[in-house]
Amino acid sequence: MSEFKIAVMKGDGIGPEIVNEGLKVLDEIALKFNHKFNYEEVFVGGCAIDKFDTPLPESEVDKILNSDALFFGSVGGPKWDNLPQEKKPETGLLGIRKALGAFANLRPAKVFDELIDASSLKPEVIRGIDILVVRELTGGIYFGQPKGIFKENDILKGVNTMVYYENEIKRIAKLAFEIAMTRDKKLTSVDKANVLDVSQLWRDIVNDTAKDYPEVEYNHILVDNAAMQLVRNPKQFDVIVAGNIFGDILSDEASMLTGSIGMLASASIGGKVGMFEPIHGSAPDIAGVGIANPIAQIESAAMMLKYGLNLEEEARTIENAVDLVLKMGYRTPDIMSEGTRRVNTTQMGDLVAKAVGDV
Ligand code: NAD
Repeated sequence: MSEFKIAVMKGDGIGPEIVNEGLKVLDEIALKFNHKFNYEEVFVGGCAIDKFDTPLPESEVDKILNSDALFFGSVGGPKWDNLPQEKKPETGLLGIRKALGAFANLRPAKVFDELIDASSLKPEVIRGIDILVVRELTGGIYFGQPKGIFKENDILKGVNTMVYYENEIKRIAKLAFEIAMTRDKKLTSVDKANVLDVSQLWRDIVNDTAKDYPEVEYNHILVDNAAMQLVRNPKQFDVIVAGNIFGDILSDEASMLTGSIGMLASASIGGKVGMFEPIHGSAPDIAGVGIANPIAQIESAAMMLKYGLNLEEEARTIENAVDLVLKMGYRTPDIMSEGTRRVNTTQMGDLVAKAVGDV
């Protein structure tokens, strides 16, 4: 039996409703594979403001850093919108990401056959896509110095600087190749090497890293072309690795190929503890009415098992369970179509948990 300590942050809005469904599914996994998951509840964001008067209490950071993984609901909502910036829920979210030191953000974009009509693209273009965007998270233009708004000869000038150090590129490239090895052994690196020196360095280091992974078929693509190819022929991609700003934009584009925000998970890894959360927010407009789709949170649990706890088979079991429930025709309202059966949040969680035993 393996034992793991998981920090659970239920969050705001629909967070608690869907995190509970994720835990239900994890409990089934523990039962099936004879693991013990010890959950410790932590508070970040709006719920932490209500309880501790601050969005990221030290005590919670300590608990998280002493866990094997952080299972995270979404934060935020109108209740806290008028607080000063340092007190807002989102400040807690950015703070915990920073405290974890996670340098890689993983965003899968997978199209479920059953939901193919939810995409704005033609079914033949998106059928079967299964892309993973690996975005560098702690460097690049969002952090480079100098940055700011300065006055030069009485004219205002806005400045941001794209900086990457060799070691920052090396570690994200290595991680992307490692992940490619666990999938179809295909990697695309995105840059703008035709005009940016920092991209030329990025390209050189990716080439150098590739020597350690001869089995991985890899290529380089310019970011503008990548944006086009993602909608023209997304099936050509398996793993995509990109710097912070390019990855930010492309991961949103890739995830929207699937057309269903309630289905998509993410992982932030590479630091002391990995963080696993849906890509959507706290959806205050539907909180408390039991109609939120818990699948993104459940898929986040699968990512936690795979990338946070090294439990690949268990992760696959969750993914297969979700596939099975969708094949059986069950849908929460956000993904309903003709001829399918409507279920609420808890029912969807129950169905996936049961399917874990059946797949
Ligand atoms: P949102 O993602 O919460 O909601 C956008 C739309 O998608 C809404 O119509 C919502 O009902 C729907 N939706 C989202 N998740 C769903 C689900 N699981 N099932 C069914 N429908 C779902 O984005 P928003 O409305 O712009 O933001 C709401 C709050 O969430 C804000 O306070 C924002 O700051 C916060 N937020 C938090 C995170 C995070 O915690 N990582 C991310 C984005 C936004």
